[in-house]
Amino acid sequence: MLSTAPAPQSILHEIFGYDQFRGPQAAIVDHVVAGGDALVLMPTGGGKSLCYQIPAIARQRAGHGVTVVVSPLIALMHDQVGALHEAGVEAEFLNSTLSGEQANAVEKRMLRGEITLLYAAPERVTTPRFLAQLDSLYERGKLSLFAIDEAHCVSQWGHDFRPEYRALTVLHERYASVPRIALTATADAITREDILERLQLENARQFISSFDRPNIRYTIVEKKDATTQLLRFIEGEHEGEAGIVYCQSRKRVEDIAQTLSGQGIRALPYHAGLDGQVRQANQDRFLREDGIVMVATIAFGMGIDKPDVRFVAHLDMPKNIEGYYQETGRAGRDGLPAAAWMAYGLQDVVNQRRMIDESPAGEEFKQVMRGKLDALLALAEATDCRRVRLLGYFGEESTPCGNCDNCLHPPDIWDGTDAARKLLSTIYRVQQQSGISFGAGHVMDILRGKKTEKVAQFGHERLTTFGIGAEFSEAQLRGVLRQLIATGALSVDGQAFNTLKLTDGSRAVLKGETAVQLRESVSAPAESRRRKSATKSRPARHQRPGCEEAGSLRGRGAARRQRVATA
Ligand code: ADP
Ligand code: ZN
Repeated sequence: MLSTAPAPQSILHEIFGYDQFRGPQAAIVDHVVAGGDALVLMPTGGGKSLCYQIPAIARQRAGHGVTVVVSPLIALMHDQVGALHEAGVEAEFLNSTLSGEQANAVEKRMLRGEITLLYAAPERVTTPRFLAQLDSLYERGKLSLFAIDEAHCVSQWGHDFRPEYRALTVLHERYASVPRIALTATADAITREDILERLQLENARQFISSFDRPNIRYTIVEKKDATTQLLRFIEGEHEGEAGIVYCQSRKRVEDIAQTLSGQGIRALPYHAGLDGQVRQANQDRFLREDGIVMVATIAFGMGIDKPDVRFVAHLDMPKNIEGYYQETGRAGRDGLPAAAWMAYGLQDVVNQRRMIDESPAGEEFKQVMRGKLDALLALAEATDCRRVRLLGYFGEESTPCGNCDNCLHPPDIWDGTDAARKLLSTIYRVQQQSGISFGAGHVMDILRGKKTEKVAQFGHERLTTFGIGAEFSEAQLRGVLRQLIATGALSVDGQAFNTLKLTDGSRAVLKGETAVQLRESVSAPAESRRRKSATKSRPARHQRPGCEEAGSLRGRGAARRQRVATA
């Protein structure tokens, strides 16, 4: 006989020691306790675990049996099971850290109905052996609920695709009457659709929380000397505080960790290439000690529940907004002020773009990835509220937040349409004249009228575009190039020394049909300012309309420099 389930509120209070449900938790729990399917989108730290743990306990007590929790990471399982044990809940995990004997014991207990929550990796759940055990439970009405954690792993559009998740459709097909709850902290519209379709949750009720993390202040800066910028950021605003610095490559992780350590910052490296024990030791220190800065690749972070991470810095641009938001979400889980800081540059765009172009994936996939990269780049180049854009990306409307760099220090904007046209026509003429393409540096030299060796070697000072962009700083032109590459009006040939090539999308910009709006480079280096004044003596015939703009830019230099100082 099934008894009635205890009130979720009393489970929350008695087992977890909390007074109230947070946000949509109560509605989710009620829905799942009653046997409904659910898709839960909640930001990191929002309290997803209770959304299936409380139903699992309630349903177990009502005689429905065991809840199987699919989780992609061993560390995550261990944390959760450990915490449940402390709360006095019968929870176990099945994964490769158990000996055969231990695993057998867990399975036996599960079959006897002694376990409330069983955590397992997706590849384990879908083995014939495990399915046979689930069959046995199912036949006896003792299979209560499936919870699919980190559900975005099922989608190739998500930032953490795990093919094993695809096989989870077997759960629905084989155990049709068992409710399922899928949870994730990250899903834009396309990923969300994919989760619903792949896990056959089209009829599930969707619970979509606000993704806003108001205590996190977002700042995105243009990369100049990234290491120095990072040091300034940490020493100036987060001295002695715990933080995470994300880098693109293992080598860079090592270098930056060393540099920070050299400056007296307690920094540790973390990446998949490190010895397992070292990695574990570093992670433990980060969790236990105060004020450690973890320098890491994206291998670090999932399942790390450290409440007082005060900043997350990205030294290289991630692939997309989902990844960025997930990673920055690790800051300030305790609700106290925290910072998300990113430095990005032309090279990042070029690298990411090339990785997409050169990946063996199909064209449709590449198109989606390019679109996602563009969205992130648009966020980086944005002149309006970062949070409005971030939330907008996840389908949420909001008003300017007052707690991001753009809200706090509105950036100057300049119209890069003319510069974009000049850049594209230079690339066109160079290609026409020399029959080969060149990289960004050379193209900018031509446009700015620099008589370099290479310019002389190819006779590029004879091009009609030589020097017609003398009024633009290199930083400004780089900004224009980033936009052009990101929007597909220009492509980078990774097979040929990163040379720039015109695309079908170039025409609209060349004709002036597409406006190119840019944030003014906030930290033009002294070097480029000097070069700019050196070009003042250039003959008047090179001064085209754009120079008026350049004059007004110079006038705003003081304000710009002041912002650099506070950045
Ligand atoms: P997520 O999985 O969404 O990142 P967790 O489930 O790990 O979040 O919860 C984040 C933190 O919030 C945990 O420390 C958890 O104990 C706490 N928490 C969750 N729900 C509540 C609640 N209703 N009241 C108080 N604390 C809560
Ligand atoms: Zn804002």
